[in-house]
Amino acid sequence: MTQLADKDRPAGTPADLEPILQALRAVVGAGNVFAGEAIEARHRGDITGAFKGRPSVVVRPASTEEVSAVVKIAAAARLPITPYGGGTGLVGGGVAAPGGLVLAMERMNRIVEIDQTALTMTVEAGCVLQVAQEAAEAEGLILPLDLGARGSATIGGNIGANAGGMRVLRWGMMRDMVLGLEVVLADGTIVSALTKVLKDNAGYHWKQLFIGAEGTLGVVTRAVLRLRPAPTTSQTAIIALAGFEAATRFLRESQARLSGRLSTFELMWPDFFDVLTEAQAYKRPRPLPGGAPLYALIEALGDDVQRDGEVFEQILAQAMEDGLVLDAVVAASERQRLDLFAVRDELGEAFAALRPIIVFDVSMALADMPRFIAASDAGIRADFPDARILHYGHAGDGNLHLTVSVGAISHEIEHKVQTAVYTAVRAVGGSVSAEHGIGLERLDFIGWTRTPQELALMRTLKTALDPHNLMNPGKVLPPA
Ligand SMILES: Cc1cc2nc3c(=O)[nH]c(=O)nc-3n(C[C@H](O)[C@H](O)[C@H](O)COP(=O)(O)OP(=O)(O)OC[C@H]3O[C@@H](n4cnc5c(N)ncnc54)[C@H](O)[C@@H]3O)c2cc1C
Repeated sequence: MTQLADKDRPAGTPADLEPILQALRAVVGAGNVFAGEAIEARHRGDITGAFKGRPSVVVRPASTEEVSAVVKIAAAARLPITPYGGGTGLVGGGVAAPGGLVLAMERMNRIVEIDQTALTMTVEAGCVLQVAQEAAEAEGLILPLDLGARGSATIGGNIGANAGGMRVLRWGMMRDMVLGLEVVLADGTIVSALTKVLKDNAGYHWKQLFIGAEGTLGVVTRAVLRLRPAPTTSQTAIIALAGFEAATRFLRESQARLSGRLSTFELMWPDFFDVLTEAQAYKRPRPLPGGAPLYALIEALGDDVQRDGEVFEQILAQAMEDGLVLDAVVAASERQRLDLFAVRDELGEAFAALRPIIVFDVSMALADMPRFIAASDAGIRADFPDARILHYGHAGDGNLHLTVSVGAISHEIEHKVQTAVYTAVRAVGGSVSAEHGIGLERLDFIGWTRTPQELALMRTLKTALDPHNLMNPGKVLPPA
C-alpha cells in the first residue's frame, strides 16, 4: 500500500494513492510510475530553482494511447496533470500542481517521419529539439527553431511554450512551424490532426489554442512540423554599433539588401557584452574591444556560395562608411561561428556571479526600446540604486531580455523589481512575456498586458476544454 502519513502527503494527494498507482502501472508498466521517494528532483522543481512542486506521482507514457489512458485515470481521481518535457521552461510552467500527476514525455521521443516532398517532420512530443534539428539536417533540411536549451528542451515543451529563440526574425515562432497537431484533452479524448497541409481554412484553427497554452488545455502528443531546405552558406558576425538608431537603420537596410536572408539579429548592450566576454575570456578571445554603445550578433543564411560572403562584407563595409557600424568581426570558420554565438548564448557562467537574478522577457515595438530601458532602469534604481541590470535579446523581433541583480531577494523584492519593469512595459504597450510564457512567475502581471475582456475569454476557453481545472492548474490564468 502507498498510504502516506498525512504530514508527508502533498496537499491535494488522494488519501489512498495505491489504487490509482495500480491503474497507472497497468497502463505504462510498473517501471514507469514513480511515487514518494522515487520521484526525481527534476520533477519536484524547475530549472531556475524559484519554484518547488510536490507531485504525488510521475508517469512516463510511451504512446498517445497511453497518455489518453493516464489522463482518464487522473481525471476520474480528480488528480491535476502537469505535462513535463525537458524542464527548461523559465517561468515555472512545468512545476507540478500540489499532489498532482507529472506526465513526463521523455519516452515519446521518436521522429516518426521526414517527408522530403511535403518538407515536414512528424515527431513525438518528447523528442529533444536538438535531436529533431539534427535529423532534419541529415536529410538536407532544417527545423529553424533554435534556442540555447536545444540539448534538453523538447518539441512538446517548445509547442507548450510557443518557443521563439534566435531565428524568429526570419522563420517565426514555434506557432509558425506547426502544421499538424495531436493532443489529448482533459477527459482523455485524443484529437489527432497530423496534417502536412499549409493551407487549411476548414473552420477554427483549434491547434493554435494548444500552442503556447503551457499545458493548461491539453497534452501535446505528436506534431507535424514544417521544415525548410537547409541553407548552404552562413555569414556570422558580431558588430559594434554607433547607437540604437544606427542599429535599427542597419537592421532595416541589411534586411532589404539580404532579401530576407538575415536570420539572426541579437542586440547586446555594453553591460551585457562586457560581463559575458569577461566571464568567457579564459576560454575564447574577446571578439571586439569594449566601449561601443551597442553590439549585435548577426547571421545571414543563404545558398549562393559564390556571392553570399561578398554581399555580406559589402553590407558591413557600407554600414561602416555610413557610420552605423564602428567595428566588426566576421566568423571565418564554423569554430569561430560557434564562438561568436556563445557570446550571446552561453549565459550560465557569466550569470553565476550575479545570482540571485531576476530575469525578464518582454517585448515591444523596436523603436520603443530605449524609452522602455530608461524608464525600467530608473524604476528599479529608485528602490535599488546599486542594481546591476543587463540588457540583451532577440531585438530583431522586438524581444528584450533583462537580467537584474539586486543582492539577496525575497518575494517582496522580486515583486518590486517586476513592478518597476512591467510598469515601463505597460507604458509602451508591450508584453510581459515575449516567448517564455506566464507560468507561475508572471500570474500577477498577465493583466498588465491582457485586458479584462481577453482574460475572461481565456477563462471561457479554459472552462470549456477543462471543466474540472485538471490540466496544469494554477498556471497562466490568475485566480478570478
Ligand atoms: C539556457 C536557456 C535558453 C533558453 N532560450 C530560450 C529562447 O531563446 N527562446 C525561448 O522561447 N525559450 C527559451 N528558453 C526557455 C525554454 O527552453 C523553452 O520554453 C522550451 O520551449 C521549453 O521546452 P521544455 O521541453 O523544456 O518544456 P518544459 O519546461 O518541460 O515545459 C514548458 C511548458 O510547456 C508545457 N509542456 C511541456 N510538454 C508539453 C506537452 N507535451 N504538451 C503540452 N504542454 C507541454 C509544460 O507543462 C510547461 O508549462 C531557454 C531556456 C534555457 C534554460
